[in-house]
Amino acid sequence: MRLVFDLSSEQNARSFLLKPAQQYGHRLVIQLDKHKTKKKTVKQTHNKQDRDIIIAVDAGHGGEDPGASGANGTNEKTITLQIAKKLAAVINKETGMKAILIRKGDYYVALNKRYKKAREQQADLFVSIHADAFHDPKVHGMSVYILSKKGATSEAAKWLAQSENSSDLVGGVVLEDKDNMLAKVLLDLSQNAAMEASLKSAEKVLSALKRIEKPHKKYVERANFVVLRSPDVPSMLIETAYISNPQEERRLNTREFQQQLANSIKNGIKDYFYQSPPPNTWIANHVKSPKHTVASGDTLGRIAQTYKVPMRELKRLNNKTNNTILVGEILLLPKIIP
Ligand SMILES: [Zn+2]
Repeated sequence: MRLVFDLSSEQNARSFLLKPAQQYGHRLVIQLDKHKTKKKTVKQTHNKQDRDIIIAVDAGHGGEDPGASGANGTNEKTITLQIAKKLAAVINKETGMKAILIRKGDYYVALNKRYKKAREQQADLFVSIHADAFHDPKVHGMSVYILSKKGATSEAAKWLAQSENSSDLVGGVVLEDKDNMLAKVLLDLSQNAAMEASLKSAEKVLSALKRIEKPHKKYVERANFVVLRSPDVPSMLIETAYISNPQEERRLNTREFQQQLANSIKNGIKDYFYQSPPPNTWIANHVKSPKHTVASGDTLGRIAQTYKVPMRELKRLNNKTNNTILVGEILLLPKIIP
């Protein structure tokens, strides 16, 4: 359950749980008071109307950590930076989207600093770029990962245990003044929402990448990667190809393939945010999503023809595996970009 309070002026909000007493059951108390005790440390960019969706692009490895290397001497850190820069460039060409690069050159950034940087910039999504290696040079293909359930659970426990995080904001809520139980509930809510968004966005990116490359697995994989551990920023890690496969190493070095990867990843991200835009963003405010209500006599084929939408696209948008439609059913149509 989510409670939203619209207030006429800025207030300090605190909340805590009270155990049952006399005629009262369990209570969640929300206390509002005017005087400010704490300086705001987070830029309030998210309150701006029509703000850009912020994508944190992380080039894997760097500096003294070269990552994996190919038979012909290609270092993973070089490839990941080249792809990351191309990805940031195509994201920045989109209205309503803005990319930030976690590293801009050949230097090392600690793994936990990478997602901290994304959180500081209030990123809506964190994307880490890699190029896998395996002892068998024949292994090939790309993979998209999100954080494993186990990784998320152990990270939540650590967050609550570490005092350095207690004054931190998680999903816009200060955990410091909450008792343990409430802090855990708030963290869980925020983390569950982030995990769900991670999966949905990763699925979009995987299906966009499938159009240019064979996937190593057909579904989004899960692993306990450190960079994916933000409690409130949806995160994914993309193994673009196997650098240990000589054919893929060669491809990874070409400008064309790097650009194809960047375009596909961007398309997947865009697809996700056009379908589920965060509030107050330019995409939420300006990208219209037309709908069609099925009338008697309608067929999926005729609707596709009327709106000039390919059948495949219409079925994909509405998660349909067959052509059955029901009178009164509301069908989503492709979004209209102004
Ligand atoms: Zn890597």
